Amino acid sequence: MVYLDFAATVPMLPGVLDAMHKAENKYFANASALHTPGHLAMNEIEDARELLAKAINAKPTEIIFTSGASESNNTVIRTFEGHKIETSPLEHHSVIEAAKKYSGEKTPKLYSYMLANNEIGEFLDIKKIVKEAKKQGAYVHSDLTQVLGKIPIDVKELDIDYATFSAHKIGGPVGVGALYIKEGAPFEPLIIGGNQEKKRRGGTYNTVGIIGFGAALKYMLENKTWKKYDGEVRSLRDELAERILKEIPKSSLNTDLQPGKSLPNILNASFQAAEGESIQLYLDAEGIIVSTGSACAAGDIKPSHVLMAKTGDAEVAHSSIRFSFGLDNTKEDIDKVMEVLPKIIDRLQKISTIKIEEK
Ligand code: PMP
Repeated sequence: MVYLDFAATVPMLPGVLDAMHKAENKYFANASALHTPGHLAMNEIEDARELLAKAINAKPTEIIFTSGASESNNTVIRTFEGHKIETSPLEHHSVIEAAKKYSGEKTPKLYSYMLANNEIGEFLDIKKIVKEAKKQGAYVHSDLTQVLGKIPIDVKELDIDYATFSAHKIGGPVGVGALYIKEGAPFEPLIIGGNQEKKRRGGTYNTVGIIGFGAALKYMLENKTWKKYDGEVRSLRDELAERILKEIPKSSLNTDLQPGKSLPNILNASFQAAEGESIQLYLDAEGIIVSTGSACAAGDIKPSHVLMAKTGDAEVAHSSIRFSFGLDNTKEDIDKVMEVLPKIIDRLQKISTIKIEEK
């Protein structure tokens, strides 16, 4: 299998699995309990918290663990219920839908802008947003789910008030995430009814999951993964982009490859008159795993809101594929993709009812 869907989820790292297996036997107790096994479990949670704090230049007390990025995003946005909440059109649905539900009128009180988008990898100008927010006395939240481990993060330097993270995007388990809440920033828990996380998030601690997150963070910090992303991973991504443009007629890129413009591991490309879902399924049949920009809901295939915001062209959005790379991809993976992709696109373009325009 050639796996190129790392932006959707990263397989758990071997060290993460080991740490979690050990934790199942050793740190099984309720981490809030006063007895010794409880304390031992809590110590492990605090170690993981310290690792995340170190990774983003925050204080451990400024971090709470959640069930994932969706919960972290919802928590921050709901804190500002009734106030105006500004978001970018490129946000994840957990930001967009929450803002739709909770946003009020009046002047903006919260800006929620991701640093880099998950579908096309594009960087947003967060510095400009922070400046704008400060002028208005508003707070800034950034969904850093796709950024963690890909480039160094410093929440103090970014000067943001909240940041969202998810373990399964760095080789940790699914169902664990975190939220950075700057000391003194307004906060309203989403889940009430428990004293956990200093009353900021109720519910028994997911000790094993948090230990897994900690192990993935440890790997990330020890290996400085952002260096490999900026080097080998970026080269592979760029090579695939170059070969697609050269070897596949009527193809175009939706990701700006220039350094500083996009995350090094994401490539979004469109193939005129070939439908994304079909490309994905044909590639899947060849053992190549990618994702599309469309979400098929109740028989209604909607083009990706991100690609629509970016290109304004439903055809480009419907014919898009996201290739997202991880630390283990190789040049052979690119060769395998380029062995089959041109033939798949050619076949789909030939049977398409959409007229191919000369552009
Ligand atoms: N935000 C972004 C930018 C994401 O890419 C994702 C996952 N696709 C999420 C939020 C949701 O993450 P989780 O699965 O941890 O809820």
